[in-house]
Amino acid sequence: MDVSIIEEKENSVRFLLKGTTHSYANALRRAMLAEVPAMAIEDVIIIENTSVLYDEVMAHRLGLIPLKTDLDAYVLPEECDCKSELGCSKCRASFTLEAEAVDEPVMVYSSDLKPESDVTPVSGNIPIVKLGPRQRLKLELYARLGRGIEHAKWQPVSACAYKYLPKVILNSENLANPEEVIRICPTDVYARDPESKIVVRDEMACTLCMDCVAKAVPVDSKKSPPVKIEGDETAYVFYVESTGALPPRRVVTEAGKVLEKKATSLNDLVRKGLE
Ligand SMILES: [Zn+2]
Repeated sequence: MDVSIIEEKENSVRFLLKGTTHSYANALRRAMLAEVPAMAIEDVIIIENTSVLYDEVMAHRLGLIPLKTDLDAYVLPEECDCKSELGCSKCRASFTLEAEAVDEPVMVYSSDLKPESDVTPVSGNIPIVKLGPRQRLKLELYARLGRGIEHAKWQPVSACAYKYLPKVILNSENLANPEEVIRICPTDVYARDPESKIVVRDEMACTLCMDCVAKAVPVDSKKSPPVKIEGDETAYVFYVESTGALPPRRVVTEAGKVLEKKATSLNDLVRKGLE
């Protein structure tokens, strides 16, 4: 198996995973979505809430705010030695939130959350609630690590998908309508060319939609087809977009660790069963 990064940005990564199977690629995708832990607000103590939002709705909204997660500093509550329901400094991060509108309406943002540790919201611009005149909000909040399998608020990725590595085989000499093929492609795989009229501009952009194959008219139907698209079933192009909780590269490596741990524990169980 071989991994190469195609494009890496602050909150997303596109990489090529070569020499593997469909089942491994899907297991990796599912591990990123459902198994890699991230921080999210889980308990909200409502001291005062005279806003128009019900306490439950307020707590739900707060839970969905992505928080910067330090996986090296915190452990999952079920793996913490404290074994306490309230948690300790290793498995819990706390915040307070106090806001009040006096005469004018006030919008409460995620930047109004006052962290009591280094866990902070990914963005300070997330609206929580609009307070009308004389409405008040006073809350105590507790965040903990969790997994997407339990609730989507713990998912560290906002997008995680893969496709087969596309292969575009263009036989431009046998293509009667290059303009039509260029136009129909939704991801602009093809471009105009003064000599051969059409060239493959960006093979990687192909989504294997096959629109070009359906539209391409051959000059001579006895010759090899003008456009042929194939997907390499041993190579996968992944796109992972982080919510900002973790760097995207870390999400991928953590998912790999999760799979390794699962495989080891299965191996141990099988071995024990055979003894
Ligand atoms: Zn603890």
